[in-house]
Amino acid sequence: MGRMKRPAEFWKPEGEGVRCLLCPRLCLIPEGKTGFCRARKNEGGRLYTLIYGAVTAANPDPIEKKPLHHFWPGSLVFSLSSVGCNFKCDFCQNWELSQCRPGEVYARELPPEEAVEGAKETGCSGIAFTYNEPSIWWEYCYEVSREAKKEDLYTVMVTNGYLNLPAWEKLSPYLDAANVDVKAFTDRFYRRFPGVPSLKPVLESCEWLARRGKHLEITYLLIPGENDDPGEIREFCRWVREKLSPDIPVHFSRFFPHYRLQDKPPTPLAALEKARGIAGEEGIEFVYLGNVSLRGAEDTRCPSCGELLVRREGFTVLEYRLKEGRCQKCGRKIRMVGEFRKGGRW
Ligand code: SF4
Repeated sequence: MGRMKRPAEFWKPEGEGVRCLLCPRLCLIPEGKTGFCRARKNEGGRLYTLIYGAVTAANPDPIEKKPLHHFWPGSLVFSLSSVGCNFKCDFCQNWELSQCRPGEVYARELPPEEAVEGAKETGCSGIAFTYNEPSIWWEYCYEVSREAKKEDLYTVMVTNGYLNLPAWEKLSPYLDAANVDVKAFTDRFYRRFPGVPSLKPVLESCEWLARRGKHLEITYLLIPGENDDPGEIREFCRWVREKLSPDIPVHFSRFFPHYRLQDKPPTPLAALEKARGIAGEEGIEFVYLGNVSLRGAEDTRCPSCGELLVRREGFTVLEYRLKEGRCQKCGRKIRMVGEFRKGGRW
């Protein structure tokens, strides 16, 4: 881990320890200890990241897998991950990476320039920080994103959104898009699962991303009996419409028993359909159902005339019928960043 330790940003000395200011947990870290995420350590009164360049996965994925359906469709994205998270969700799908400490799983050192080279060599159009929580990997994400921009690659964060605004601000010139997990629309859920007092910082991150013109899509994992109350979903959709935009894509994702949350059934398909119906009633224009094999679940239709615009299956774009970002039938402009790139960079 030695070379993966680097001075951290966003902290201040406080009393006998240091206060980490990166995420809203604001850990006060005593000498020799790490913060909640276990990726940042106080050594000699200074804060260090322990995971700079510590890469547990580096591979091309379809951008649709992030999921981003309105951003460089069909392109490949070089997906990088490390270890750790600032949440502790019992249903985490990537808990083998997110819930371990640095050194517990094999990580190779990948300097930012080599990460960018890897993206280019594999025909990727961009880089995504994904699988574990990238917020707590901020210093590396920042440097890789800066390098990526020199090579005209796009950059994406797949995140829980639990990051303070100064960190978003500094990353901003080098960040193009994010998929943010809004895990529920109640503080009760955020207290119980991620183990934080409130979902407000997550909403603030989304609102900041939308305000700053970053491409944003939202994922909401529907867990039976925990966050699938129709009233809660309606409130969530109203927030998307009023505070973000009606054309921000929303992905309702199907839950399967996982990690420590084994006593819940998979989300019934009817619950997913219901959530999609509520979103439609609330004026959300692009709603997708993820983790299901339902015909049409991932297709894009024109919100004005209903014309099929993009047909997807799995993570593959099968048909792409937008022309210059517009529905060819009614001419409506559709939120879509970039052009269709079929599985490669050029
Ligand atoms: S990034 Fe880690 S150490 Fe810093 S406040 Fe968040 S959980 Fe604590």
